[in-house]
Amino acid sequence: MPPGDLQTDRPHSARIYDYLLGGKDNFEADRRVAEEILKHTPALPISMRANRRFMAKVVGFLADRGIRQFLDVGTGLPTSPNLHEVVQRMVPEATVVYVDNDPLVLSHARALLTPVGTGAVSYLDADLRQPESILRDDAVVKGFDLTRPVALTIIAVLQHVIDDDQARAIIGQLMAPLPAGSALALSAVTVENDPAGAGTVRTYNQNGVPVIARTREGVEALFSGFDLVEPGVVPVHHWKPVAADKGVDDAAVYMYGGVALK
Ligand code: SAH
Repeated sequence: MPPGDLQTDRPHSARIYDYLLGGKDNFEADRRVAEEILKHTPALPISMRANRRFMAKVVGFLADRGIRQFLDVGTGLPTSPNLHEVVQRMVPEATVVYVDNDPLVLSHARALLTPVGTGAVSYLDADLRQPESILRDDAVVKGFDLTRPVALTIIAVLQHVIDDDQARAIIGQLMAPLPAGSALALSAVTVENDPAGAGTVRTYNQNGVPVIARTREGVEALFSGFDLVEPGVVPVHHWKPVAADKGVDDAAVYMYGGVALK
């Protein structure tokens, strides 16, 4: 694909997600798939909002524990609040490196790169299936102090990595250079809450966007080798719930999440 080619005739995961969150950064091909998905799982936008809250909850939790460096892989299109806004409002000097491989996300990177604090925010156009391309980039090598803990956040991304061994290898490689005390936070798709979710998974795959749903055990296995913090891997609205999580229907949330420490 030529650099900058938005491939507007093809559905992209970041843009389908943007449409379902009520955003404007999407095209006809994305909206068509999103509307088909909503026929199977009309509650999916509730799940996606719960997932954005999960992102905010985990980075807030990790900032509270003293983590000052965040590597966010599979960032997505700008959505308020973005990760660096949550973190830097709490800790202005915190450093954030965003990573995504979608050309439209890249073209919107400026909106992601406006610090609200004093710490650097940078954006890396890279594929998580090539972890070494992330780790050897200056944003990581020079932007982070790798003697101090880093939080790796991979929120609502690994459903696009179908192979469990590959997903674990990616996590292992990205965590390897990070010191003890670093954190891994991730969420991934499930249909254990609602069998109709299988129709949505099928629709994604039929439209060229690979997606796999995992069981709770399958998501727990992604954390192997790290120490899960309480409450472990749970539906994202059950992870240290905030007011907006209360009363969310369990059947509406297609996402397990958790946080672990190295
Ligand atoms: N983390 C955000 C966005 C999730 S949408 C949130 O939770 O709200 C999934 C994102 O992962 C999309 O932006 C998509 O472009 C990105 N993504 C999917 N496969 C990727 C890959 N191989 N490398 C980098 N990013 C990827």
